[in-house]
Amino acid sequence: MPDLETVLAALAEEMAARPDRGEVASYIPQLGKIDPQRFGIAVALADGRMLVAGDADEPFSIQSISKIFTLTLALGKVGDALWRRVGREPSGNPFNSIIQLEHERGIPRNPFINSGAIVVTDVLLAGHQPREAIGEILRFVQFLAEDDTVFIDKDVAASEKATGYRNVALANYMRAFDNLNHAPELALGVYFHHCAIAMSCRQLALSGRFLAHGGKSPSTGHSVISPERARRILALMLTCGHYDGSGDFAFRVGIPGKSGVGGGILGIVPGIASIAVWSPGLNENGNSRLGSIVLEKLAKAMDWSIFAP
Ligand code: GLU
Repeated sequence: MPDLETVLAALAEEMAARPDRGEVASYIPQLGKIDPQRFGIAVALADGRMLVAGDADEPFSIQSISKIFTLTLALGKVGDALWRRVGREPSGNPFNSIIQLEHERGIPRNPFINSGAIVVTDVLLAGHQPREAIGEILRFVQFLAEDDTVFIDKDVAASEKATGYRNVALANYMRAFDNLNHAPELALGVYFHHCAIAMSCRQLALSGRFLAHGGKSPSTGHSVISPERARRILALMLTCGHYDGSGDFAFRVGIPGKSGVGGGILGIVPGIASIAVWSPGLNENGNSRLGSIVLEKLAKAMDWSIFAP
């Protein structure tokens, strides 16, 4: 097996030199300002080691990667009852598709497309003011990362609120089908804020460890969720974590992952590693272009795949 530290350094160098970096998301104006040259990677291993390369300590907007954490919290709150309001099938459609929601009468395909994540956020709002729900989500992520400096980038949240017409449409549409219990603007306010959580690759890799280790934090041994629930979240990440590029990601990389339009991807190698990568330029499916490529190369070099014997 090659030395992981050497592999990461070589990959970071290779990625820094590549000209084909994809397009930075500009539909959220604040994200459009990020330098596409940025690249970071962090790998948290089962034995507690953390290996990093590139801009691994620079916070970026985790965007849809936050949907893993809100899903985890919502399942803790309502359990399997969640699946009455959200499906578990890959969408095969863009992350903000409205057509699909009409066909499926307001029940989103899965918890990782925007409509599904807005329903999940609505679940977390029950019994809370939006401010409290946002605080609960942020504290959970800080707890997982074992780092209180994880923060919400208010400028990114405001930027998305100012331009999030499609998400407003999705939320209103679901409310019309009685699949939203709160006013759309309240659910969206919480949604925009959790998407605006800013983390470094190092913090993100730390926060994904419970998924790599059967629901337990490897550093404390404490259980965050049950092993069964961790497996199910990983199954959803594999089948739905990259929107209409999920099949291709599974084919190329072979591990569960979740991307965000900020250019981050959290990838999990069960029992072995929690990996966070960040490169802001996106491919045609809205997933980090170099992030996907580097994960494919890393998985190949280390022989990491959930399909390996
Ligand atoms: N906040 C983004 C949106 O709702 C999340 C999309 C993503 O990261 O894929 O459009």
